Amino acid sequence: MSSLLDALSCADDYDPDSLPVERARQLILSLLAPVPGEERLFVRQALDRILAQDVIAPLSVPAHDNSAMDGYAVRAADLNPAGETTLKQVGTAFAGHPFAATLGPGEAVRIMTGAVVPAGADTIVIQEVVRLADGQVIVPAGQRQGQNVRHAGEDLRAGEVALPAGKLLRPAEIGLLASLGQAEVSVHRRLRVAMFSTGDELASLGEVLQTGEIYDSNRYSMWGMLTRLGCEVIDMGVVRDDPAALEAALVEAAQHADAIVTSGGVSVGDADFIRELMARLGEVAFWKIAMKPGRPMAFGKIRRPGHGGAGAGKPTTESAWLFGLPGNPVAVMASFYQFVRPALLKMMGVPDAQTMLPTMRVPCAMPIRKGRGRTEFQRGTLYQENGEWRVKATGAQGSGILRSMSQANCFIVLDTESTGAAAGELVNVQLMDGLV
Ligand code: AMP
Ligand code: MG
Repeated sequence: MSSLLDALSCADDYDPDSLPVERARQLILSLLAPVPGEERLFVRQALDRILAQDVIAPLSVPAHDNSAMDGYAVRAADLNPAGETTLKQVGTAFAGHPFAATLGPGEAVRIMTGAVVPAGADTIVIQEVVRLADGQVIVPAGQRQGQNVRHAGEDLRAGEVALPAGKLLRPAEIGLLASLGQAEVSVHRRLRVAMFSTGDELASLGEVLQTGEIYDSNRYSMWGMLTRLGCEVIDMGVVRDDPAALEAALVEAAQHADAIVTSGGVSVGDADFIRELMARLGEVAFWKIAMKPGRPMAFGKIRRPGHGGAGAGKPTTESAWLFGLPGNPVAVMASFYQFVRPALLKMMGVPDAQTMLPTMRVPCAMPIRKGRGRTEFQRGTLYQENGEWRVKATGAQGSGILRSMSQANCFIVLDTESTGAAAGELVNVQLMDGLV
């Protein structure tokens, strides 16, 4: 029954009360697996989906040697390396209209870009260097055998893996599939993710705020991040700070979703009644992650009603993965990008190494202060000045200041031991979703 928690506590240097970000991410990824289920879609419908199976090229692209330029198809063996060569033009090859015959000695064919290189020819001389006189084609010295020919199979070879399973289908892949004549493709089914916010202080849009209430913004930023990832989002609204309501919401969510993402209330993981509740519903670890913002986090699984147990050897589909994020609006987004996004991508079939936001090193325009002990994800603006990219922090960095996220296009990542950065120093910058 407590296989997940046992597995966690067996891991080296596992300290739930001070877990480094990278360690937490590795633990999560090591426990997750792609969710079974795929569907066949028309290529255009498959944009932004994850490929479920390798696509083997059924043909070579291009299928024939063809010309990269407008010019003349010739036989290199005919050309005089030291001076001009006069050839006889015997025909024309257009893209889609090949020259039917074989090129004989002393002959040339007028050829357009994309036209099949005629049999016998091996070299294209560009039209700009050729002189024409009385149906004769005069080619200057200095041509190289094979020049300006695009070879059959140089893009994709028949029988090779053109796209590997796990590949995100971007416009380039959609085009590549089309170049192979593939009208349909197998993709992973959409991940179903249930989400709710917790908190007695939360009002929903359309409600009038009472004293002490705030609008529930987390459910909107979470919805946006999940939608961007291509998930099917099940919005379960606001759940009151009440164990019975929480239990009902988790049970309901586990019934329908592959994963559950919640905001708020995780610091009460310290309270016995929550631990007892989670132990009854599944297996959940309460972590204090050495990061700022976003310290507390719950991670584990919630059993689906009707299934026996989620013990060792049973498929994970008997339970839904739970990501209990902190309540502060910036902490929600920072922990989503660090843990939930990689986790969900893995569940969608993306290889581990491609689940991280891209990181680059950029000079910091202004000094940044930081204390030791936690990895900080400061919100930053990456901008160009005099042709150079730099980064600066976006003003106040409180974990409740959502404006800092809105002004940001990246996280400035300062590792645990860092005590800040001086102006001009290189810092690690993680590009946010939407920029990449
Ligand atoms: P909690 O983790 O529940 O203690 O919440 C931490 C802080 O985040 C509190 O100031 C909450 O009011 C705020 N908060 C929690 N949930 C939300 C939400 N859905 N939208 C906006 N702020 C929230
Ligand atoms: Mg709360």
